[in-house]
Amino acid sequence: MKALVKTAPGNGNLEILDVPVPECGPDQVLVEVAYCGVCGTDIHVMHDTFRNYPPVILGHEISGKIAEIGRNVEEFRRDEVVTILGATAVTCGKCEYCRSGYFIFCKNRRGMGHGVNGGFTKFVVARPDQLYRVPEQFSLAEAALSEPFAAIVQAISELTPVQMGDVAVVSGPGPMGLLAVKLLVAQGIKTIVAGAPGDTQRLAAAKRFGADAVVNVGEQNLAEVVRDLTKGRGADVAFECAGHHSSVRGCLDALRPMGRYTQIAICGCEIHYPIDTTFYKQLRTQGSITYTAATWDRMMRIYETGKLSLEDVISHKLPITEWEQAFNLCMDKKALKVVMHPVD
Ligand SMILES: [Zn+2]
Ligand SMILES: [Zn+2]
Repeated sequence: MKALVKTAPGNGNLEILDVPVPECGPDQVLVEVAYCGVCGTDIHVMHDTFRNYPPVILGHEISGKIAEIGRNVEEFRRDEVVTILGATAVTCGKCEYCRSGYFIFCKNRRGMGHGVNGGFTKFVVARPDQLYRVPEQFSLAEAALSEPFAAIVQAISELTPVQMGDVAVVSGPGPMGLLAVKLLVAQGIKTIVAGAPGDTQRLAAAKRFGADAVVNVGEQNLAEVVRDLTKGRGADVAFECAGHHSSVRGCLDALRPMGRYTQIAICGCEIHYPIDTTFYKQLRTQGSITYTAATWDRMMRIYETGKLSLEDVISHKLPITEWEQAFNLCMDKKALKVVMHPVD
């Protein structure tokens, strides 16, 4: 089968190779990949700015159908549609974080797509506890958005609960920001989305997805627009999804006193952070990194409500052989979400 492989450490070293179909062990399930989303992490693995263990097949945002079941596995059947929690591929299972469900902080953790083989290929193996059945109303393509969407579910539904009547700011209309808009709008939250001058298309998408207002920060001041739209009150919550210092600043300024700020994006550098603003406004600020398995359970229940479609967040579906174009679309911020599918 063809696979997109990081062949050696260092910048680049990505190649489409022919690799053997993995063997399905007695406690494993073999999944035929339908789609695998392109994520910022894949681009970091390409540039070697995210920990990786070559040779390794990239891709961790996987949806597919069960092709084979190990003899000790009872809870799944062939042809069931699943999405995979790839981040728990290897964990120690013993440290305080593993035992409390926060496996993401396990020092020995290795996820699919960087630590063990991932989904930019035709078949992957996983343990049954990594698989989540996708409700019927969800397509295979949107099921591939589960991994990034789970990070949004943790940030919004678990760490920063919002209620009807709250006003939310989402700063940064990339794939994560747009998924945040989807969840907030589905919950009836008034949502204001901020983007940079290059984000015109993505801001238009946010508007289509139900955002109450979009702000191009090249032309307008976010805090002023938010004040205008909230009778001077300011926003209750802000989700920083751009990873840029001016966006951080914009969110802090747009919040009302006692508002809540959640960092979702990675900035990748030290930024100037006006900490006095958090003092004078008594803001609650926090970060949100990925999810727990419980978040994935909640996400499946959210899918089952039928109140949410993620299909229109996907702007491109490309074969893995066109990975360069797919990666460039993401790096150039030309796309909404890009997913790839295997080739024979
Ligand atoms: Zn991802
Ligand atoms: Zn651990």
